[in-house]
Amino acid sequence: MNRATELKRCSKCKQPKPIDAFYRENRSQCKECEREQKKHFRGRIKGKASQALQDSRKARRKAEELTGEPITDELTLIQVVWTLSSAECSYCGKEIPESERSLDHITPMKHGGSNTFDNITCACKCCNASKNDLPAILFLLQSAESREARKLIDGVSLRGHKSFHEAFIELADSAKFYFDKRAEQALRANE
Ligand SMILES: [Zn+2]
Ligand SMILES: [Zn+2]
Repeated sequence: MNRATELKRCSKCKQPKPIDAFYRENRSQCKECEREQKKHFRGRIKGKASQALQDSRKARRKAEELTGEPITDELTLIQVVWTLSSAECSYCGKEIPESERSLDHITPMKHGGSNTFDNITCACKCCNASKNDLPAILFLLQSAESREARKLIDGVSLRGHKSFHEAFIELADSAKFYFDKRAEQALRANE
């Protein structure tokens, strides 16, 4: 049969359509149905993002009450949409279906984080729940993926007779010292 006259049935609208009504020969839905689906998807993400934005404002007010400190809040809807469009969990790295995506504050607002684009990321509901209000770096250190980092800190704490927490703070302080020094050097080089 001539390819131009060949018909293929769309799996969504069930209409037999010519091959060029599909984006690719192997697609099961016609262009029209795929476009409709994308529009629908964008609408859903937007609804989800708008809810997440409202929730983040509520959490910000709660954290302000708790700490008595004002918290920077510059988050916009488009930034939340962008963040939730990512299909990968920032913590376990797994692909997350849209319904399981949630907005996470990398540094929790009650621990000094702000409600801004640089402090949010996409996490699966499971990781978000087990992270709770831990700063992201601590949560990652506790998860199985960071076994090596944990082993290192465990070793330091054992050999130095300190708690895991003390050893971690010590290592974090040395990292801060390193970055402060480099920032200082960069400033001096600019003088
Ligand atoms: Zn169709
Ligand atoms: Zn996850």
